[in-house]
Amino acid sequence: MKEKMTVLAVGAHPDDIEMLCAGTLAKYAGAGHKVYMCHAANGNKGHFVIPSDELRLIRREEAKAAAAIIGAESISLDFPDCEIPPTKDGLDRFIDLIRQTRPDIIITHPPYDYMPDHVMVGKHVFDASFHATLPYYKTDIAEYHDTVAPIYYMDTLVGVGFLPQEYVDITEEYEIKRKALNCHQSQVTWLAEHDNIDIFEYIETSARFRGLQCDARYAEGFCRLDVWPRNKTERLLP
Ligand SMILES: [Zn+2]
Repeated sequence: MKEKMTVLAVGAHPDDIEMLCAGTLAKYAGAGHKVYMCHAANGNKGHFVIPSDELRLIRREEAKAAAAIIGAESISLDFPDCEIPPTKDGLDRFIDLIRQTRPDIIITHPPYDYMPDHVMVGKHVFDASFHATLPYYKTDIAEYHDTVAPIYYMDTLVGVGFLPQEYVDITEEYEIKRKALNCHQSQVTWLAEHDNIDIFEYIETSARFRGLQCDARYAEGFCRLDVWPRNKTERLLP
């Protein structure tokens, strides 16, 4: 692993990255790496009571507060929930995200996660991370990226259908992860009311379960995207 890497985590909604890989990102940040946390959709449909426009602003602030706790920089692509375009215009926003942040490694959703925004993000990130390196692929940001970045897929929601290839021990970062999730107060109620999930029980159970698989108290699991030219000989996860 390079001494100073740039890590880009791309999730569908504000709170996905925090639930699925916040401990790992905190570990990267703690070791001095640059960490970006991007949520592609703005979270404007994730509530029963708060109006959508207001919710969008609240969730942006929740995401920024969570990123600050993790030691990361927060970015929003600001697509409305459930409206990430499967078009070239949609893809180009992801290409510019990569040209802007210039990651050495990307963490995102596997393209088989539980809802369309997650699947779309996984697909766009895969496409964009290649196209971002093509000088003749023109977008708003002219400077192309010089690396087809390795991609690591974070866990699926509740770990369904996901068998990790690599684990990160987040025992020391677990409290940071819990505090980052606590910033998403709008989702603490939404997930309880819409999905019957206690978010803190959720992250405790998942981190403990992945930890049991790798002899750690708490862990997060990942799968590498094993395709040329993204494979590396060294371990890139912390
Ligand atoms: Zn989500």
